[in-house]
Amino acid sequence: MPITPLHFGVLAPINHFAPGKVSNVSFIIANLWMDQASIIFTLTGYGAISHDDHVFWWALVMTGFIGIFRWTRAWWLGALIGGTSHIALDMLVHADMNPFEPWILGNPFYMGWMEPLSLVLLVLCAWLTAQYVSGILDWARKALAAARERIAKLSV
Ligand SMILES: [Zn+2]
Repeated sequence: MPITPLHFGVLAPINHFAPGKVSNVSFIIANLWMDQASIIFTLTGYGAISHDDHVFWWALVMTGFIGIFRWTRAWWLGALIGGTSHIALDMLVHADMNPFEPWILGNPFYMGWMEPLSLVLLVLCAWLTAQYVSGILDWARKALAAARERIAKLSV
């Protein structure tokens, strides 16, 4: 993907159909970690845009590193799906990847779908943003109702 946050769009259908089953935080950490070389280059000019670590075996190792910080199924699933979906999506748009290294060199799944895939993920990101905004509004409504209840009890 041209920008890493588009990968987060994958969370929208996951959150919708399996709410609470996949950690959004570990999913996002896995995606940021996967693109860390490119992010550092974009922000600082140091290094280069790289897809060298966009390899499925590395996604599994990375899941282990992220997973040790919280022993919950949702946390591990977030890291696993975050890393593997990142590679699965990137291999459709980056010809220079070797996702199945060291067993298969080259990228047999390159399709050159940068624009259509980015568009789909942009829509999914909008859906994800709507989910987060809705969640924040729900939380705020509940917090406000609880505060009103406490105030009402104090005034009686
Ligand atoms: Zn990437």
